[in-house]
Amino acid sequence: MPRESELLPIIDKLAATCQGTVKEIVSLLVCEDETVLNYLFAKALSVKKAVFGQNIYIRAIIEFSNVCHCCCCYCGINRGNQTVSRYRMVPDEILGLAYEAIDAGYGTIVLQSGEDMYYTKEMLGEVIRGIKAYDKRVAVTLSVGERAYEDYAYWRACGADRYLIKHETANAALYQRLHPGHRLASRLDCQRQLWALGYELGSGFMVGLPGQTIEMLAVDILLLQKMQVSMAGIGPFIPHPETALAGAAKGDTGLTNKALGITRLLLPHAHLPATTALTVQGGRAEALAAGADVIMQKATPAAKQQLYEIYPRLVKEEYSLKEKRQLLLEQLESLGYIGV
Ligand code: SAH
Repeated sequence: MPRESELLPIIDKLAATCQGTVKEIVSLLVCEDETVLNYLFAKALSVKKAVFGQNIYIRAIIEFSNVCHCCCCYCGINRGNQTVSRYRMVPDEILGLAYEAIDAGYGTIVLQSGEDMYYTKEMLGEVIRGIKAYDKRVAVTLSVGERAYEDYAYWRACGADRYLIKHETANAALYQRLHPGHRLASRLDCQRQLWALGYELGSGFMVGLPGQTIEMLAVDILLLQKMQVSMAGIGPFIPHPETALAGAAKGDTGLTNKALGITRLLLPHAHLPATTALTVQGGRAEALAAGADVIMQKATPAAKQQLYEIYPRLVKEEYSLKEKRQLLLEQLESLGYIGV
């Protein structure tokens, strides 16, 4: 195990060059020394502030369908889960929620769903165009999984700005175990197509997946760099009772924050959310201190949020979207940030 005197220069090097080796990243991921970790997070925070100032970017997410044809071993809405009742919103319903979010002050609308082929490219195109017609300054992010190139191209032409499609794990064998019938190579092909179409590409991965090693996590971080991502969601794996991984241990939030901090050093300009998975573990302030600059808030009505349970979490919606945003702005202000 490298000593403090060897690790601090590694942090400086990563920050100065935005380059790191698997070995260097692993040495930081396994480090438990408080002085070193404080230095890592302080560096990540200063990089974030140099790029984004005091800003924290707030996004509204609409989870418009929990129907999914995939059977990802970690995901609570995998197609094999018979216990969850499935819902689909029609385009007008999605648009109504988007307008409400825009009126409440949100500048980015994220449209997310399971991989649900019920939605044709035209149906989602109608939603994208509707949002842009309502307010052309609003950014539209899609997160609907693997689709045909022509769908991606069509949505881009309708005005979609960004696309979130995480690589989940950069290890091809682990990827295949966790996603029966799917391959990492196809996922990465989708990412390349989206990038080439001019989308701001969002990727990311889970921390603490069963069978994942620290070396794999280092490769996950380096893959973000290779794919030239604009955004990366890094969150702990949380076992869901209605999945094959129900009995597995959950991902470590400390390790997740280290991965976040290292990613901030290597990709200074990337948007890094304090992921919902991290936030449900109570770690939002820590994630912001480790270099995260984005917070996503649910614009899905509470009853449907409960059904969009990719991992277990408590849904309590006592506030309107506008109130929720206001509360978050106040929380951020008390932490010295400006919510935008
Ligand atoms: N169907 C879309 C959206 C996926 S859900 C797609 O394929 O891209 C959004 C993200 O939730 C996933 O990318 C995954 O990283 C995360 N997720 C799913 N199940 C999880 C779990 N049990 N624990 C933690 N994160 C999970």
